[in-house]
Amino acid sequence: MHDRLPPPNAIAPNLDRVLFETDGSMLGRVIGSDALFIACAVLLFIAVIALVATRMARQEARFSAQLAGLRGQRMDQLIRTVSLAEDIAGLGIWQYDPATGSQQWSNGLRRIFDVPEDEPFLEGDAETLLLANDIDLVGAIKERLAEVGPYDLRFDMMGLDGRARSLAVEACNLRDDEGKTTRVIGVVRDVTDQIARVRQLEFSRAVAQREARRAQELAQTDPLTGLANRRSLMGQLDEMILKARRISKPLVLIVFDIDHFKTVNDTYGHLAGDKVLQTIARIAKDQAREADIMARVGGEEFVWVVPGADESSARVMSERLRHAIANDSATETVPSVTISAGLAELTQGDTSLSLFARADSALYAAKGAGRNQVRMAA
Ligand code: GH3
Ligand code: MG
Ligand code: MG
Repeated sequence: MHDRLPPPNAIAPNLDRVLFETDGSMLGRVIGSDALFIACAVLLFIAVIALVATRMARQEARFSAQLAGLRGQRMDQLIRTVSLAEDIAGLGIWQYDPATGSQQWSNGLRRIFDVPEDEPFLEGDAETLLLANDIDLVGAIKERLAEVGPYDLRFDMMGLDGRARSLAVEACNLRDDEGKTTRVIGVVRDVTDQIARVRQLEFSRAVAQREARRAQELAQTDPLTGLANRRSLMGQLDEMILKARRISKPLVLIVFDIDHFKTVNDTYGHLAGDKVLQTIARIAKDQAREADIMARVGGEEFVWVVPGADESSARVMSERLRHAIANDSATETVPSVTISAGLAELTQGDTSLSLFARADSALYAAKGAGRNQVRMAA
């Protein structure tokens, strides 16, 4: 059987070559078409990627543009809001760069300086406006560049309407890490009305205080003679007694009364009598020292409180007064009058009323003894 089978080469002597060649060309064809396919696929892939990337870039650009637009709108809105807030508050914001000397003026600040809203603000306008109003803001700021906390400045200017105005600047230095001032921000306010209101308020307060003082003086003063009245005397007497006790010093109270004054009125008239009362008051006031009280406590009755005086020195003083009145009390129409006086020195258990009462008793005694004399309290 084996012998009948021809060798392979006998049936197809070129089979190997054929097979090889056939395989090789097919393989080449196979290999060739795949590479093309892959190349196409890669190109397609790159093209898709490029397309997607371009789209994304475009979208990104559109998005950025929208964002920038939005930001711009928001910035405009912010500027408008700040401008409105400045307007409502009557504020202006001033910024200064010490390195370059450049200034930035907000809309509010321009308004304060009467610059019309739509008028362009050119380079150098800031300096011109400050100079025209004689405001050395930059000079003042330069002196305070080392300041750490906020500080205040005040300037006066003349508005375009010729009205004097006052500006208050609250400034603050912004500093870098080394502490050097890199920017100054100042909030500027027109405080003219505020100052006027404060001045008006101060004026009204001063008037009210003066009137209150005057009313108090009137309530404490005898209108005819200008001396202290009884109410004022009693208020002060209590304080003087307390003080005399505290510093262990004597105190004397002298009561004196015009003799036969009813006759003066009856003879020369009430008005002439008034004139006599005023004359007596003037003489008595001349005799009193700074620390004393001289008061008119009744019709023609007076009280003289002498802190620091004892009985004997008070007697000398009241005799001097009695002589002065006897000698100098004559007026144009009324001849001179005399007085009687009673005096009492403060004792341990005295109150103002008991001291007064003892002096009054002494006066009564002086009247009883014939008038025109001084009597000591018992
Ligand atoms: P004596 O020596 O005892 O004090 O007698 P007198 O007349 O001074 O005392 P009297 O109390 O009798 O009279 C006091 C007079 O003082 C009566 C009154 O008309 C008068 N008088 C009181 N107040 C005033 C006043 O304000 N103006 C005038 N002009 N007279 C007054
Ligand atoms: Mg009298
Ligand atoms: Mg009297």
